[in-house]
Amino acid sequence: RLSPGEVWDAINDDRVVVHYQPQYDMQSGKTVAAEALVRLIDADGQLAYPDRFIDRVEQRDLIVPLGRVVIERVCIDLAACREAGAKIRRIAINLSAHQLLADTGLLGFIDQTLACHGLQYEDLEFELTERHSLQPDCEGHLVLNALAGRGARIVIDDFGVGYSSVIYLAALPIAAFKLDRELIAGVLDDGPSGSLVDSLLALAKNMGLDVVAEGVETKEQNDYLSAIGCPFAQGYGYAQPMSVDDLRQLASQECRPTEYSSVSA
Ligand code: C2E
Ligand code: MG
Ligand code: MG
Repeated sequence: RLSPGEVWDAINDDRVVVHYQPQYDMQSGKTVAAEALVRLIDADGQLAYPDRFIDRVEQRDLIVPLGRVVIERVCIDLAACREAGAKIRRIAINLSAHQLLADTGLLGFIDQTLACHGLQYEDLEFELTERHSLQPDCEGHLVLNALAGRGARIVIDDFGVGYSSVIYLAALPIAAFKLDRELIAGVLDDGPSGSLVDSLLALAKNMGLDVVAEGVETKEQNDYLSAIGCPFAQGYGYAQPMSVDDLRQLASQECRPTEYSSVSA
């Protein structure tokens, strides 16, 4: 685990890396969007994944500078991908509840960064995890409303395994939710996950929301989700998080049949 000091050093020494995991349209099998996932290069030159630092970063205000580095990097990368002709509708950025409260200048920062790179709010979406609760009517909700009002999509992450899921849908200007991979993992079992996912898709449809299935690893999961009408998916079965160069190449291919390496049986 990285100490707060080590995280701070990584931010200051430009050792923040953003990888992108493609999201694909289940009907066409095409890459339509991607989620930005932060990594740090540690003092030994090794890539450190969020499980080694994100909790600590969240507990302190380090999420403010780190979050801003991610937003800026995403804008630079998206503008470069578009310049190179890659068709990427938008990039999803993870925001934490703490970040929404602690970064009082967040909106202004995003305004400026988008403008600087010739992008618009429609080019971004912001994922808010359901794993931490966000008090209704707090400052964070105001920021989310403002982001949505400017044209960004707000997406509930890890839907189905956290707090107050259904209330969120009513209280926030939500465009989509991401079905947590725990639900997806059990979708073919005899347990309740299959009918839960089915019901959540119906809920989304009734509310006019998009759905992204997270953590789709096998062809069987992909085929099941596609058959029951899940519109979008993301997971190791389609693609791992990758560098921006790899994302650009993937998204530049006119049509890519969904191929599954089936990471698990
Ligand atoms: P998340 O937003 O739910 O991101 C999905 C995580 O699941 C990523 O882990 C991704 O690599 C992993 N994943 C994707 N497909 C599969 C699959 O098929 N199977 C399995 N087992 N895992 C899969 P990662 O990159 O380690 O990120 C972990 C968490 O860290 C993220 O969960 C998110 O909550 C947080 N995070 C990442 N980047 C940022 C950031 O820039 N800001 C904030 N606030 N949080 C971030
Ligand atoms: Mg996410
Ligand atoms: Mg998630």
